[in-house]
Amino acid sequence: VTPLHRVGIEVVGLDADDTLWHSERDFAEVQHRYRALLAHYGAPDLIESVLLATERRNLIVFGYGVKGFMLSMIETAIEISGQRITGAEIHQIVELGRSLIERPLELLPGVHAAVEALSADYRVVLITKGDLIHQETKIAASGLGELFWRVEVVSEKNPTTYRRLLERLAVDPARFVMVGNSLQSDILPVLDIGGRAVHVPYEITWALDHGIAEAHHSYAVLESLADLQALLGTW
Ligand SMILES: [Mg+2]
Repeated sequence: VTPLHRVGIEVVGLDADDTLWHSERDFAEVQHRYRALLAHYGAPDLIESVLLATERRNLIVFGYGVKGFMLSMIETAIEISGQRITGAEIHQIVELGRSLIERPLELLPGVHAAVEALSADYRVVLITKGDLIHQETKIAASGLGELFWRVEVVSEKNPTTYRRLLERLAVDPARFVMVGNSLQSDILPVLDIGGRAVHVPYEITWALDHGIAEAHHSYAVLESLADLQALLGTW
């Protein structure tokens, strides 16, 4: 029984990409191959900066995920090549994107045991952005699906998204903790609405997540999801 003076956590929100399984590492590898493919049209640095600007512009149109990323790669190739990009090269770019969707899912170390243990003590909600079909495929491949109370694929992770989601699930933000690798998507918006947050950094930070100010330190930082259960036990 939770003492009245202490508000305990009841619901744990988990991010998916780069929190439960590898993702950004695969994007980085594909971008490396993409820059090599376009090397005869432009320098790697230029390709990288044009692609990033295109992605940033396209996010609000196409949303997050591989499909929008593929379109950004094609647009960038047209721009970098001065419209000289060939059909065969565009085909290779599409295949690069497809390889991201089709590659086998790899869980981060200790994730299965950690989520299994969490699900015994808390209601666990998977909250992820990205392409709906791709995320559903990854969840099925992860072997974790049965452990989640709810799975929520959202188009954006901002304070409004989290507030509406918790209202719909009838969860008090004070009893909710969000866990993930992105300060921008998983940590700051949840603190904004009165929830708690645990940052578990991934080995690579997506370029569009760079430069997010760590405005406050009212969140915990863990090296591994495996340490989460013990931390929550002290709250
Ligand atoms: Mg993530």
